[in-house]
Order: sequence, then structure tokens, then C-alpha cells
Amino acid sequence: MSVSAELSFSELLLRWAADHGRNALPWHPRAGEPADPYRVWVSEIMLQQTQLSTMLPYYHRFVARFPSVRDLALAQESEVLAAWSGLGYYARARNLLAASRAIERAGCMPRSASEWEALPGVGASTAAAIASVTRCERAAVLDGNVRRVFARQVCATEPWGSAALARRLQVEAQARLPLEARQMPAYTQAIMDLGATVCLPRRPVCSRCPVAGSCLAFAREQTGRFPVPADKRARPTRQAWWLLMQHEGQWAFLRRPPQGLWGGLLTLPELASAPPRSLEARRSGHPDLQSVGEIVHDFTHFTLKAAVFRAQPQSQQDVQTLMSDSLADDPSAMVWITPERALQEGLPAPLRRLVVSLGRDE
Ligand code: SF4
Repeated sequence: MSVSAELSFSELLLRWAADHGRNALPWHPRAGEPADPYRVWVSEIMLQQTQLSTMLPYYHRFVARFPSVRDLALAQESEVLAAWSGLGYYARARNLLAASRAIERAGCMPRSASEWEALPGVGASTAAAIASVTRCERAAVLDGNVRRVFARQVCATEPWGSAALARRLQVEAQARLPLEARQMPAYTQAIMDLGATVCLPRRPVCSRCPVAGSCLAFAREQTGRFPVPADKRARPTRQAWWLLMQHEGQWAFLRRPPQGLWGGLLTLPELASAPPRSLEARRSGHPDLQSVGEIVHDFTHFTLKAAVFRAQPQSQQDVQTLMSDSLADDPSAMVWITPERALQEGLPAPLRRLVVSLGRDE
């Protein structure tokens, strides 16, 4: 019998992680020091929909700007959104702010996974990750990468995203936790690392996997069949037309209401319908509109396609004419600022890319 056959799932994983895991991440405590729950929490929220390499510079900027939960709780929402600008999924930033204020009101950080889960924006997996890393709680993290590992380990036939799969994997994950609670921080990081770097969605690198010996999908040469995809329904497309007004180096933006899609961020006015073609527009005295590209952005439930049209109004009358074609009903939400200033404020990721590319061309 080989040595590895005698080791448990968690022991194999911990041995592998010592050499191959993503060790020494900025929120990991130094040897002998306790983990900082605030930093672990911020990192987990940022990693929810963002890859490690992308989130790292944002993480450094965020904790430099808001070094403690109190600093965050005292911040204006616009400051927090600005620090988050470019990361996307802005509900995460608003939830972080709301949760920091709840923590300040409570007077102490949450300790257990169930206490963390009571905060806005903290789901069961995130709560388990934080509590296991900061308090050695034997709670099983189950982010998307980890779910994929266990779905392959047991050849789970329940479709991805289903409640049945979630229930089954919770049991499987819990059964593989280390018996010793002190190993939980390293184990949680290790299983997340395995999913992120070895058990990859398309081509898992099973030859480097420390738990290949217990993997049913590997044994059956069926890694491509698991996880079983969710029932796919076509994601609808929503067509929009955005208006980019420019005048003497300043661009017109609208600040969204705090709630809803892109709440609190700056966006462009949206036209009610496709704009008139230039020639017809000039005949009718309408300010000219020039197509400058299209933004395509996938939301969870639909794909947004926004054709962007530039206008250079010469008078307040021109602005009013242009805005009369828009869906905006609150003129006080409009701000005229430079593109550089807009980039410092909260902009949705696709608009941010547009502002950067158009600003570069000018
Ligand atoms: S053996 Fe391959 S499919 Fe199975 S858990 Fe390891 S990397 Fe994933």
C-alpha cells in the first residue's frame, strides 16, 4: 500500500498545498499572528466574482483607503463605489458598506459562520470561508471552484446550480474536512486553490492533483462530463442606445439612483429608441449624432447591447433637444465632468472601458 493511500483527503490536500498552494496572500496572517477578520472578509467578497490576479490591486487599494471596519463604516457610499470602480458587481461594495455599519453598531466582528452569514452580501460559502480561516471553525467552503472539485470526486449527476447538487456537495465537503480544527485555515485555502489552479473547468490537470486517487470522474475518464451543466435557457438580449454629450472637454453623465442596477454609479443618458440618422437629423434641426461603438455586457439574466452615440451640443437648447429623446426624467441627476474625473468616480466596468478608450483617442 502506498503512503498516499493511507492519508485522508484533507491530509493529501494539505501536503500538496504546502508546496503548490497560493500561500502568503496579503490577507494571510504572519506566522504566530491571528488572521485579521476584516481583511479576510474583504478578500472573500472581492473574490466572489473576480479572479485573484484581477482583484489583488483592488484589494491593496481598498484596504489602504479603508484600513479598518470603522474606516469603511464612516465612508460615504460614493467613496466606496469609487474604490470599487472597475471590479463590477457593485452590490458587493454596497453590501460591504452596509455590513461594516452593522458591525460597528454591534460593537464587535462576527465570530461564527452563522454570525457572518447574517450580514448583507455574505452567503453560506463565504461565511464558512471566513469563519474557518479566522476562527478555525469546521465549516465547509463551497464556492464555484470547490463545488466543481467535489462534483467530479463523486460524479454528481445533479445539474449545476440545482438545490439537489448544493445539498449533496455540502454533505460530501463536510465529510472531508480535517478532524483537527487548527488545520481549517490551511485546508480552506488549499481546497479553493485546488479548484482554481488544478481542477480547472475545461481541462483539469489530473496528473498534478493530490486527490486524484479518490476521484471517480478521473477513474472513469469522465472529467469532461462533470459537473453536469445546468439546463440552459437562452439569455435574452436588451438593446439600448446611449448618448454621450461632450462640450469643451466635459462629458455629461447621469448618477443612478442608489437602488437597482448600477445603483449610485455614473452612467450615460439612455435614448428611448434608435436615434435619427444624421442626414435626417440635420434636416430637422436635431443636433448631429455620431456612432462611436457598442458596449456588450453580460448580466446574470440578460445581455446588454448598448450602441453609443456622440453629440456635441452647442447650447442649452441642444442639450434639451437631445435629452428630450432620452429616458431620463431627473435633470438634477446630470453632471458635466471631465472623463478623467469620471474615472475617479464610480463607473460601471463596461462604461469605464469605453471612457478609457474614447479618452485615449481624443
Ligand atoms: S482528479 Fe482531476 S477531475 Fe478529479 S478532482 Fe483532481 S483535478 Fe479534478
